[in-house]
Amino acid sequence: MLNRVQPIKAFVYESVRFSPTLSDTIEVEVVPRAGGKPCCSGCGRRCATYDHLEKRCWTMTPLWIFSMVLLYTMRRVDCPQCGVVVERVPWASGKWRLCDGFRLFLAQWARKLSWQETAASFRVSWADVYASVQWVVEYGLKHRVLEGITAIGVDEVCVRLGRVYWTLLYQIDEHMVRLLWIGYDRQKDTLLAGLKSLGEPVCAGLRYVCSDMWAPYLAAVREHLPRVLHVLDRFHIRKQLNEAVNQVRKEEVRALAAAGLQPQLKKMRWVLLKNRKNWTPKERRRMRQLQHSGLASIRAYWLVVAFEHFWTYLSPSWAAKFLDGWRRRVRRSRLQPLRKVADTLHKNRAVLLNYFRARKAISGGVIEGLNNKVKLTLRKSYGFRTDKAREVALFHVLGHLPEPQLTHRFF
Ligand SMILES: [Zn+2]
Repeated sequence: MLNRVQPIKAFVYESVRFSPTLSDTIEVEVVPRAGGKPCCSGCGRRCATYDHLEKRCWTMTPLWIFSMVLLYTMRRVDCPQCGVVVERVPWASGKWRLCDGFRLFLAQWARKLSWQETAASFRVSWADVYASVQWVVEYGLKHRVLEGITAIGVDEVCVRLGRVYWTLLYQIDEHMVRLLWIGYDRQKDTLLAGLKSLGEPVCAGLRYVCSDMWAPYLAAVREHLPRVLHVLDRFHIRKQLNEAVNQVRKEEVRALAAAGLQPQLKKMRWVLLKNRKNWTPKERRRMRQLQHSGLASIRAYWLVVAFEHFWTYLSPSWAAKFLDGWRRRVRRSRLQPLRKVADTLHKNRAVLLNYFRARKAISGGVIEGLNNKVKLTLRKSYGFRTDKAREVALFHVLGHLPEPQLTHRFF
């Protein structure tokens, strides 16, 4: 089985036995093939043996309930170029106590389970899982190919409490959706640094960039990608409109309570943020009752519903006419939070209308899906105390990165 799953050229699996000292442990003894010269770990050249070090052990992928360890006496080589250095072995790299195959195995499971669950399942430490994922991600980032990128998306994500936002850059082409870059802030310079890090050839090949209405992003795109069609993301606009409705509701609830009136909006928060298709029969009844109540929250909700029609237009000029009409309705409604969003939409009208010019190229919902995945990854990550760990986890799950090529496969 070992020869099938982890062949080791120039070495031999000499014996496999239960450990006399450790319970539930299988020891695998490895020796060099007869007459085989060791490989220099510096340059890879085969050199003469200088001396032998102490016996070392490496953890392999466990088998059922048994831990597996590989035992081998390392040699040092006398390399004409690198001097006296330790040899290179095919099952592990550097000073690692885990075999490369096991590290890749852990990293692959860490994509399906949380890091904590992975560590517990395979009886290693959390730090081992983190280091394995980091190794795979570093390899992936070094070996990924940034080609054929025509559409990118920019998203801001709240990574932890205290309003800490990161900027995430994605490729959102039909054939490839992946995380490209992470910046630890959401300023104009953050995005500029990200775009620059993609490199000149990638930027030259871009045709679409998709973002929200966050002014620093708009400015950065205008500056660095003046010839690229900038599209506003539908998902973000809906989010902003929903936030405005929520704001109206909160103010109204407060005002009703202050005036000592009947709290008509109790338990209405989620109803007002939902698509009306998803209302339960009870919620539908409630909304019908409140229809003519004149409540600001209800009016705000229906104005937001009305805006959805905007996206169904084919021609930008008709869409523009609709937008003006909608904005007039919002202004008449005197709903301050909604007016603010309407004004921002009006201000970014040109970019907003690009949506109809790029309709076919940008599939809706991509950024929303990615945003959800990011949140899920961060939520699963109770153990991530550092930003670096968060970054590694996000690239691991969303980066679509190539993995280290080993001679063996586990899946
Ligand atoms: Zn060497």
